[in-house]
Amino acid sequence: MTALRSLKTIADLEEAGLVSAEQRPGLEAVAEHYAVAVTPAIAALIDRNDENDPIARQFVPDAAELLRLPEEREDPIGDAAHSPVEGIVHRYPDRVLLKAVHVCPVYCRFCFRREMVGPQGLGTLASQAMDTAFAYIAAHPEIWEVILTGGDPLVLSPRRLAAIMERLASIDHVKIVRFHTRVPVVEPERVDAALIDALKASSKTTYLALHANHPRELTASAKAACARLVDSGVVMVSQSVLLKGVNDDAETLASLMRTFVENRIKPYYLHHPDLAPGTSHFRLSIEEGQALVAALRGRVSGLCQPTYILDIPGGHGKAVISASTIEDNGGGCFSVTDFRGEGHDYVSK
Ligand code: SF4
Repeated sequence: MTALRSLKTIADLEEAGLVSAEQRPGLEAVAEHYAVAVTPAIAALIDRNDENDPIARQFVPDAAELLRLPEEREDPIGDAAHSPVEGIVHRYPDRVLLKAVHVCPVYCRFCFRREMVGPQGLGTLASQAMDTAFAYIAAHPEIWEVILTGGDPLVLSPRRLAAIMERLASIDHVKIVRFHTRVPVVEPERVDAALIDALKASSKTTYLALHANHPRELTASAKAACARLVDSGVVMVSQSVLLKGVNDDAETLASLMRTFVENRIKPYYLHHPDLAPGTSHFRLSIEEGQALVAALRGRVSGLCQPTYILDIPGGHGKAVISASTIEDNGGGCFSVTDFRGEGHDYVSK
């Protein structure tokens, strides 16, 4: 069945054949705590005959979300610890996050901001808070890049996006505006001329980081939406989360990264899953992640290599966790491992 509107309740999901009547009571308990939304494009992509469908796993609630482990945190990457004013996260000197909206077209079951997004989340920044956020950016000349995230900033109307871009245009020291979004994949029809004009309504260079985790997400419509963006001069990079049962095998990852590159999207980040509440069923170990990244290195072009990243819990920023290929033996001698796993000596005095 093809949904004509987004599915936002467990009853909607049951009607669309995405959950069974038996699952419903447990999933209602999940939905009481975490927002639910599946767009028509995503509902159409789910294979209802595959109980392990990697698309369903990302968007359809699971009773496993009710399991909360002691190490999980409501704010796993520590946004609050670096928020000088509402809507701004200033963790690194040269860039800030601007969280204008806390609504998304879909709600990913592994979301690292799941306690902040959704109808019961932090909402949209009020106009006075927006003024304060822009005043903060204007008062900090070290801010070179503004990253619009949230929530998904592309749910804002073109008029509101253009207004944000025009305000950023008046701040000279900001050179780059980056949007983090899932919209081209989950709601590709939203990427129309009005939205693209809005993204370019400033003299700044616009980057768009597309969040996608499985190659099937890049449908013909999604690829066409990305092409419209790239053709208009928006630079696209990717970000993906390494997720158990979704993309935790080298073949799927290789296909995902190649699909990005074929569509002019440079693989950027592959995130180790964060310690978000109720997401332990998605997490694999760091060692497993490093082995997958090593397998990717031997398998696909350098263009297709993302940086494997851990957001250090507590707001301490990102750390690269790609498998180490060089070992210091002392005295200027090193052992270097090639993509086949074979060791070689390297001497550098
Ligand atoms: S689109 Fe991003 S912010 Fe929204 S639910 Fe998914 S991961 Fe979270």
